[in-house]
Amino acid sequence: MRWLAAGFHGSMDYMAAHGLRRARPAELVPGTVSVITARMNYLPRTTVPEGWQAVEWARLARPQEGVISLYARGRDYHKVLRARLQKLQQRMAAELGPFGHRVFTDSAPVLEAELAARSGQGWRGKHTLVLSREGGSMFFLGEIYVDLALPPSAPVSGHCGSCSACMEACPTQAIVAPHRLDARRCISYLTIEHAGPIPAPLRPLLGNRIYGCDDCQLACPWNKYAQVSALPDFDPRDGLTGAPLAALLDWSEEEFLRRTEGSPIRRIGHVRWLRNVAVALGNALAALPPGDARRAPLQAALATRATHPEALVREHVAWALQQEGKLPEARHESHESHESGPF
Ligand code: SF4
Ligand code: SF4
Repeated sequence: MRWLAAGFHGSMDYMAAHGLRRARPAELVPGTVSVITARMNYLPRTTVPEGWQAVEWARLARPQEGVISLYARGRDYHKVLRARLQKLQQRMAAELGPFGHRVFTDSAPVLEAELAARSGQGWRGKHTLVLSREGGSMFFLGEIYVDLALPPSAPVSGHCGSCSACMEACPTQAIVAPHRLDARRCISYLTIEHAGPIPAPLRPLLGNRIYGCDDCQLACPWNKYAQVSALPDFDPRDGLTGAPLAALLDWSEEEFLRRTEGSPIRRIGHVRWLRNVAVALGNALAALPPGDARRAPLQAALATRATHPEALVREHVAWALQQEGKLPEARHESHESHESGPF
């Protein structure tokens, strides 16, 4: 409630709308007396187990390439995890007989991370995600609310210690204190949840992240234990990793819908996609030295969207084109002015 009162949820009004139902399972699903929590690893099968973080940091160092958060490069996890939890419930019903239940995967007002922590799936890291000694934090969470009184599993102790690597790695300083995240500054929120303009002072800090952000997880030492998924579902799709930003901006709405069918990316829609890619292109222009021949194709790509029917796209494209040749200090100043509160 304090987090909501501070306005840290930004434009995610649904977080406030459900009130305490989020924290009281039996108010959401009457009759619930236990919650079965589950986690499912999502690192793609192609992940190099040793040193995958270095591969991801290297992507972020190539400004002309769009980077999509690891969890979103394959099939929509909502569908995958939900189907598997339903199968688990059916197996339980085969043993126990019918019982009241409801399956959730990030799909309703459920305090997923807190339920996971209280049931021993891991502890809440300073970045607020759940992490475990055996699996780092690269997993999804899901729950089955049941009307069975099951013996509770115990929470595990936290192992962050004096580490603050996630807080230091966050490009926008969104982790304002240990275990306290200002979503309004978080790149995952800005590129996925937030529908309006991305605050200009934060745009330079997005770099080439066009859908979500993994930095706080990449920096976490426990993620050397992150597990690779056993499923093909999270294998990266063609065109979603290593793609040039100029090509991604060129996708028509039809192409966007076709390429993101069954992917979590689809839910942001084509307009938000173009908004995000335009910002990344602006950052790429700023990263290239004056006179660099690689600038022209980026400018040409942006120019094709300068008259887009949506004002949101036009404004972000105009901003991106202005970034060319901007001194880093000028871009940084705009970030610092944000610290005094642009919201
Ligand atoms: S996802 Fe990125 S922007 Fe959000 S808290 Fe983590 S590092 Fe910061
Ligand atoms: S980076 Fe450090 S502080 Fe952050 S979640 Fe991982 S162990 Fe905890």
